[in-house]
Amino acid sequence: MKLPPRVRVHKFARYYYCAEESRLRIMGVQPFYKEGPLDTRSPIVKGNAMDSWLKERPRDPSELILMSKLNKFAQERGWVQPDEFRGTGTDFYFPRSIEYKAPGSRVYDLPGTEIDSYTATMEIAAHPDDFTVVWRETTVEDAELDMKRVPFTQIVEYKSTEELMDGEYPWFKRSQAEFQLKLYGWVMHPLLKEMGEIMDKQMWLRVYSFNGLLLKSYSVMYPGDEQIEKEIRYIIDVWSGKEDPIIPNEFKCKVCNHSFKLGENPQKEGCRIWASNYTFGIRK
Ligand code: SF4
Repeated sequence: MKLPPRVRVHKFARYYYCAEESRLRIMGVQPFYKEGPLDTRSPIVKGNAMDSWLKERPRDPSELILMSKLNKFAQERGWVQPDEFRGTGTDFYFPRSIEYKAPGSRVYDLPGTEIDSYTATMEIAAHPDDFTVVWRETTVEDAELDMKRVPFTQIVEYKSTEELMDGEYPWFKRSQAEFQLKLYGWVMHPLLKEMGEIMDKQMWLRVYSFNGLLLKSYSVMYPGDEQIEKEIRYIIDVWSGKEDPIIPNEFKCKVCNHSFKLGENPQKEGCRIWASNYTFGIRK
């Protein structure tokens, strides 16, 4: 199966909601956003208003320097088009490509038959919501900078919601948001290095109410390029059919858009993952 050559980070992170839903979305079976103007009361519109407001926040001198460097770096490379995204985030974007082995034609029921494959490239495009700067004591590897304290760049993701559930941002939303942050880290790590900046392992997921109140702040640690690359490859393998997708939680299927459930009895047959709940006896 041929996957698109370019996927935005937030669509990638949708894998943590449902592998099949994310695959169908990146393949364009269902547009990610509704056509036409949005209802002003929709969570997307309210969330975007929050993101724009947060972008206008006052910045300290270190942040101002970083933001102008990021802007210049992206402008010089032409990473500026906002594409189909309906959210906000930065006005520029940052890409990082990954090569992977895509399966060609797959031959079933023939044990020992090789599946032919070809090398494909996918560009993963990041529009991080925000960046901030912390100053830390130098480590041995930074010592050549000849400074006692150096600026570290932290990546920030904003989410907004009506209210928390039992005092927390619901786990099924949080896992997507945290993975989104880590993907931003994977994209930004080499680029920040090229800019002469140091990416901090510490990242932030900040959850706001729709009227601008900070509800919760989660610290997210970047696990390193190798770990994230492994996860990216696994997701690509699921999307391209080399790996089996994990069956999503039933409540997700209940609210899943009908256009993802093709077939006569969509609730039971339309989605192959949903159907496999019954086929393989995992659910009674
Ligand atoms: S019905 Fe369930 S498994 Fe199928 S796409 Fe929707 S959420 Fe995913």
